Amino acid sequence: MKYVSHATCTICNKTFEKGAFDYVCPDHGNEGILDIQYDYDAIKKVFTREKLAEDKDLSIWRYKPFLPVGEKIMVPNIFVGNTPLIKLDSLAEQLGVKKLYLKDDGRLPTASFKDRASAIAVVKAKEVNAEIVTTASTGNAAAALSGLCASVGQKNIIFVPATAPRAKVAQLLMFGSKVVLVDGTYDDAFELCLDAANEYGWYNRNTGYNPYMSEGKKTCSFEILEQLAWKAPDVVFVSVGDGCIIGGIHKGLKDLSAMGWIDKMPRLIGVQAQGSSYMYQAWKNNEDIVKKPSINANTIADSISAGLPRDRIKALNAVNSTLGEYIKVSDEEIIRAIPDLAKKTGVFAEPAGAATWAGVKKASQKGILKPDETVVFINTGSGLKDIKTAMKAVELTGMKYFKVEPSLDKFKKIASDLRF
Ligand SMILES: *Cc1c(COP(=O)(O)O)cnc(C)c1O
Ligand SMILES: [Zn+2]
Repeated sequence: MKYVSHATCTICNKTFEKGAFDYVCPDHGNEGILDIQYDYDAIKKVFTREKLAEDKDLSIWRYKPFLPVGEKIMVPNIFVGNTPLIKLDSLAEQLGVKKLYLKDDGRLPTASFKDRASAIAVVKAKEVNAEIVTTASTGNAAAALSGLCASVGQKNIIFVPATAPRAKVAQLLMFGSKVVLVDGTYDDAFELCLDAANEYGWYNRNTGYNPYMSEGKKTCSFEILEQLAWKAPDVVFVSVGDGCIIGGIHKGLKDLSAMGWIDKMPRLIGVQAQGSSYMYQAWKNNEDIVKKPSINANTIADSISAGLPRDRIKALNAVNSTLGEYIKVSDEEIIRAIPDLAKKTGVFAEPAGAATWAGVKKASQKGILKPDETVVFINTGSGLKDIKTAMKAVELTGMKYFKVEPSLDKFKKIASDLRF
């Protein structure tokens, strides 16, 4: 916390001194999400891009001056960070942009972007000697918290909708979490988890409630910029459910801009599923984001299914203040994007991860991307998280596969069908 100066309420701008806040602004209850502020002048005195380049630690902890953690922290011993930024030249040409990159966060230890935030959560929980940590999640934040907790021996209780993909529930059980399957939506699980955390005094990791989660998520921006030798891309595509990732990506870019390490702010494009497009609607119709009521969320992309995006203030600001936009894609477009992306790049994404690829293609059709632009899109989760939907893509796209008895003669009968 050395370089944290204070926190501000995203609704009323009220300031809270270091150590003088728990999670949210008391005047605004659960909606009063805080934004952690740093003393950039102090960071500038001790930290430079050159110094960063010399650091052999490639994990997110290399950015520690920008993270809200103490000097002497117990760093979880599973590696979080340094995911590949893959250059896609022929796809860039097809889309008619100068450069195209895929940041593959499906490669993080529990196979989703959420590890970046959960790593911070376990460190914060240790700082306050929390006995139990909790979160509600559509599945990935839970798996991330669960895995990170296992790595440091931290007890935890997880609330997920009973409909969460099996692979995600399996992760939780393997990591030894106490798992509560909630008979309801993610939004229901979220409310229940907040109530239970208050009742029992557990450390609360919830997205769009615990202000430190955006701070972990912003490390993705730091990595992208280091990987691009500090030349900021023109556009970054992020899939949006609660809006914490896009808010975090924005925060990282703002940090870098305040440091003078980048000279341009990329446009942020939030991609939502058509059946869970609260942010898209609010942005498009210029609605009051604090007052806009919850919608019914229904999409195959479980990780971005959120009726009331908890980090909606930061998420709207990320797009508006960078002159970006929100885009929505249908479930069918998302399902088709999974094999399309996998075949063209070798990266197998879960639905919410492939949604950004569907969004890139849609943006290109809509003329949002210009020929001289550099575009980054993020895969937020591994395809192995949700095999059921991947197999739906097999059906939907009429993919063929073959069965044969183990004999060359039999194989010869089908060999001519194995055409590309
Ligand atoms: C959580 C998640 C998202 C969306 O992040 P939000 O912060 O909820 O907007 C997107 N993709 C995957 C795979 C996720 O797990
Ligand atoms: Zn407030």
